[in-house]
Amino acid sequence: MEYNPFDNVLHIVENAATLLGYQPSDYIMLKYPERELKVALPVKMDDGSIKVFEGFRVQHSTSRGPAKGGIRYHQQVNMDEVKALAAWMTFKCAVVNIPFGGGKGGIVVDPSTLSKGELCRLTRRFTAMIYPIIGPDKDIPAPDVGTNTEVMGWIMDTYSMFQGHSVPGVVTGKPLAIGGALGRADATGRGVMLNTQFILKKLGIKKENVTVAVQGMGNVGGAYAKLMAKEGYKIVAVSDVSGAIYCPQGLNIPEILEHVKTGFLSDYNAPGITRLSNEELLTLDVTVLAPAALENQINETNADQIKAKIIVEGANGPTTVAADNILNQKGVVVVPDILANAGGVIVSYFEWVQNIQSVSWNEEEVNEKLKNIMHKAFCDVWNLSQEKQESLRTAAYLIAVKRVVEAKKIRGVFP
Ligand code: GLU
Repeated sequence: MEYNPFDNVLHIVENAATLLGYQPSDYIMLKYPERELKVALPVKMDDGSIKVFEGFRVQHSTSRGPAKGGIRYHQQVNMDEVKALAAWMTFKCAVVNIPFGGGKGGIVVDPSTLSKGELCRLTRRFTAMIYPIIGPDKDIPAPDVGTNTEVMGWIMDTYSMFQGHSVPGVVTGKPLAIGGALGRADATGRGVMLNTQFILKKLGIKKENVTVAVQGMGNVGGAYAKLMAKEGYKIVAVSDVSGAIYCPQGLNIPEILEHVKTGFLSDYNAPGITRLSNEELLTLDVTVLAPAALENQINETNADQIKAKIIVEGANGPTTVAADNILNQKGVVVVPDILANAGGVIVSYFEWVQNIQSVSWNEEEVNEKLKNIMHKAFCDVWNLSQEKQESLRTAAYLIAVKRVVEAKKIRGVFP
């Protein structure tokens, strides 16, 4: 079954706009990204041959501020996915109320197949090709699936070379030595953890009774598992692309994280673990399921079999619209992606603020500010969902869509 993630977004926006009583002319522009750029990227490979890669940058909305969002390097990247990811960024920034719009970029490539030199040349060529539309006041990229601080460093350097001076605020998620923010590396995982703690508290579930399954051991899932284990939660299952491992007594997360730095979970061994597929992990009987990998993992083929009480969406778009309806009917509480995984972009905002003012904050300050913003956003969404008797996802979109539409209305339609 093929899912078009952008259709998924349009459906949710339409639903929220209708509930808000908007006329189509109030929100029609949210259905069209402001700018879609597709670029061809010739790269000289190490063996002397030339390969051409395809890249994208989409700016969905700049009504509330510059476009903001990551860059994904993955073999399945396509324009519809990038459009959806850009739109999710618009609503993510709106629901946590930081002054950004939404954007996203991507390159169709499996980065694990390139050497470091090839990756660097690809990144620099991509930066050159999107150069006219990015900038600290226009559109600020960041890491996403398949990219990291090193890639952000190359983007910063390439942009700065064209400008003739250093411009740290053009990209976030940079290495600390060139203006990265303390706390940014774990920020998305930390935000997912905070949302887990907030929802457990609201539902009156005690830490000692909680079991957690995490899909994905990348930047989001890995940091989430690490921080949750540190807080004393029992993580019973984790997965990466090679499959999942399960241990009802709880996994040794620090040891697993050390292992996945260089290897796959399929090669990890410990007493008492059972091997599962990624699909089997999703249907485990746990308190909290955190999908922290790619889109459309929970869909109508498996939603019915989900046994978790709570889903906290670390990934963007892990649940399809059809699955969401099934989960709602089953009474599974879903903390939606645009709220649950907003920690990354919130700390990106802090990084940008520090860069443009040439100041630096310590890690405690960053984490404290992150917690305050997350807590306020979570409570706003929770309270509205209680008041309207709607899901947390619908409540989050009611808040986000309203903020974007209001900004657009105040600014008016040009000319
Ligand atoms: N890629 C992350 C996300 O999906 C972070 C974006 C950012 O920091 O701009 O939220």
